[in-house]
Amino acid sequence: MNIIVQKFGGTSVANEKNRKEVVDRIIEKIKTGYKVVAVVSAMGRKGDPYSTDSLINLVDEKHTQKRELDLLMSCGEIISATILSNLMSTAGYSNTVLTGYQAGIITDNNFGDADVIEVIPNKILEMLKKEDIVIVSGFQGATKDGEITTLGRGGSDTSALIIGEAIESECVEIYTDVEGVMTADPKIVPNAQLIKKICYSEVHQLVEEGAGVIHPKAVEVAKRCNIKVIVKNITNNSTGTIIGPPNDIVKDNLNPIDNIITAITYKKNRTQITVYLDNNDEHLKELLDLIANNKISIDLINLLTERKVFTVDEKNVPIIENILQAKGYKYKIIKNCSKISIIGHKINGLPGVMARIIGALLSVNVSILQSSDSHTTIWCLVREEDTEKALNALHNEFY
Ligand code: ADP
Ligand code: MG
Repeated sequence: MNIIVQKFGGTSVANEKNRKEVVDRIIEKIKTGYKVVAVVSAMGRKGDPYSTDSLINLVDEKHTQKRELDLLMSCGEIISATILSNLMSTAGYSNTVLTGYQAGIITDNNFGDADVIEVIPNKILEMLKKEDIVIVSGFQGATKDGEITTLGRGGSDTSALIIGEAIESECVEIYTDVEGVMTADPKIVPNAQLIKKICYSEVHQLVEEGAGVIHPKAVEVAKRCNIKVIVKNITNNSTGTIIGPPNDIVKDNLNPIDNIITAITYKKNRTQITVYLDNNDEHLKELLDLIANNKISIDLINLLTERKVFTVDEKNVPIIENILQAKGYKYKIIKNCSKISIIGHKINGLPGVMARIIGALLSVNVSILQSSDSHTTIWCLVREEDTEKALNALHNEFY
């Protein structure tokens, strides 16, 4: 049995025109001899009647248990799966709808951001013997006890990949509202270009650093089982991006743009903390332990003799301030920062990259609050209001 998993994101099922495209994509595969597992997200984005955000807005979140919130949120994907089922039936293709629970997706009990423990694909496989199409509600699963859980924002990508892994799908197609994985978010950088092929680790780095095009956990699963992922646009016939193992990428050399930078991305809501600490490593260790014990992750860490600088997510600032005040340390806080990540395995050891970054940012009057680098990434902290300017200037410099 040749099975393929196709995942259709929020915009792909948002309106009648796109849902028609979804039906066509499924039929295309059936006609070439595949059985299809279609994984769907809730319809549309914020403001649309049945989107995840609209469902959450039906209740007062502060007075809703996480368990009940997951029950409510899981409805969005059940609605879209049922509507797609109806459209497929109308087009003459019999099919079955399964919720995440019915599809055998077993998770831990971390409501709102559950991790998948295992997938028991028996039911999906059983159904595929009888029908060509099984439609699964993405973004959700259930604990061993049958408590409904959700997998965190963007979790339908994870649903698609773990199902793909469990049923040994030939590849997983992810349909979305952009051409594929691009050199920057095309909604912010209009000149962004399509990356035709990218390896698991590089795309993982990109999505971990903020590019929301596919969920990091989905990339981890793809890497684990070596499954090919294709990200493409629902509204046109572009080839999209192939995500695969590194050898394949080099072999095919599909990317016409031979650039030293693979992509540029960003994360907002960062806060820079500077602590003026005496040059005593015992004190530093104690401070870092206190931060870690509060489950706060820090990054862009610069440890200089007279001051220690790092960044945290904005939501952690009150706890950090409490810690610093309790210790009586002098400190400075700069809120509303953006961490820009310039990613590319070719930058390793290449002279002049940092100079080009500084030059590009200087030309648009963006000052760098802090920077750091690894073999494959250069990070620059800038003010949040400068994000768009900085991304476009850097993109122009390198592409
Ligand atoms: P879906 O609902 O289909 O899952 P998402 O909104 O989760 O769609 O993901 C697609 C979005 O990811 C795009 O609309 C784009 O704005 C954003 N994005 C951010 N960075 C990138 C990038 N480097 N390449 C492509 N898209 C990106
Ligand atoms: Mg998504």
